[in-house]
Amino acid sequence: MRPSRVRVLHSLVRSLGLDKEMTVRQARPATEEEMRVFHRSAYLECLKQAPRICGDPLEETALSFQKEFDVPAGSATHDCPLFPEVWSLVASQAGASLACADVLLNGTADVAMNWAGGLHHAASANASGFCFVNDIVLCIKRLLHRYSRVLYIDLDVHHGDGVETAFYGNSRVMTFSIHQFGKGFFPGTGDYCTPQSTNSFAVNCPLPISTGDAAYLLSFRTALTAIVSCYDPEAIVLQCGADTIAGDLIGRLAVTTFTHTQCVADVLGLGLPTVLLGGGGYHVFHTAKCWAIHTATAIGRSASELPMYVPRKDPYYMEHRRESIPLRPTLHVFLDPDVDRPLSWEVSQKYWRQFCLSIRGQMSAAIAIRQKFTRIVQFAKEDADRRKSSLREREEKERAKRPRTSE
Ligand SMILES: [Zn+2]
Repeated sequence: MRPSRVRVLHSLVRSLGLDKEMTVRQARPATEEEMRVFHRSAYLECLKQAPRICGDPLEETALSFQKEFDVPAGSATHDCPLFPEVWSLVASQAGASLACADVLLNGTADVAMNWAGGLHHAASANASGFCFVNDIVLCIKRLLHRYSRVLYIDLDVHHGDGVETAFYGNSRVMTFSIHQFGKGFFPGTGDYCTPQSTNSFAVNCPLPISTGDAAYLLSFRTALTAIVSCYDPEAIVLQCGADTIAGDLIGRLAVTTFTHTQCVADVLGLGLPTVLLGGGGYHVFHTAKCWAIHTATAIGRSASELPMYVPRKDPYYMEHRRESIPLRPTLHVFLDPDVDRPLSWEVSQKYWRQFCLSIRGQMSAAIAIRQKFTRIVQFAKEDADRRKSSLREREEKERAKRPRTSE
């Protein structure tokens, strides 16, 4: 993933004047101890040793590290090649997501954002899909210090496999991933639940390629409404991978920034403490525009309050212009009628109906716990009512026994 995305994004945020309406903080890098909450010590040691391993990749220990954790030094073909600066990169990515959790925990913010985070594929002892350290898992684990139930929502075009696996079967974290699925698309997981996954707290909405705005939003809202009413989360972590946006170099959905932002607005509209994180996004300008619009949404700006075009004063304007000659670049990403052909509504509805049929099964563990919880609350309420009425009866009896005093 190109770090230039975040540079372009910061430039856009500043030229739209959004930075003046929020508190911007420089987070400290995460420590090794903080990352050990999820990651294996030996794997973190390998990342820390990256300069030495890259300096002499054929040395015996260096070779065994690369082999054990599948991080070939300097490989041009592997999606997670080891490079000398990897440790400082992952420590700052994770540190910023932990800082987001901290401001929610200490009550200094309701919404916190880290667009350099959202690395949802990393596992406890291996890198995957451009993700070395899973800042999302670390962030959620910290939120669990205070919140009983955290909902994780993944808008990335790829299935959020790393986060789902980390919390699989954990009743305190529900994961929901909506993503492109099928025909060997990475990571290959994220289909509807299987009979083996009945104890999970994971909901997946696999979508076919070319799913358009209306179908995407319908599936998202169907799931969000069902999950929130059943699971009743206390905090939310939302991964906003922008590779879902049409025109991405990897993703093949036909979703615009209007719909992606509407999903973010729906989540923020729940009024719960929320962390917004980045994720995938391989079209640098589309990604930067998408997250700049999300930033505006998070600080309460509606779409009509944003300019139609990228501001001319933006330092990256020339770059944007070069990309979209002869038109002036718009802030939102629209479909390209020559390239993007969204699936027909009839076909999309077929997939949506299939998803609707699956959702109860996918949430069966959460529903069972919810029903048990409701029964316990109901029982406790009935018990309290019973005690109150017997106390009242006793008091009335005692009052009746007491001799009347003449005035
Ligand atoms: Zn992705």
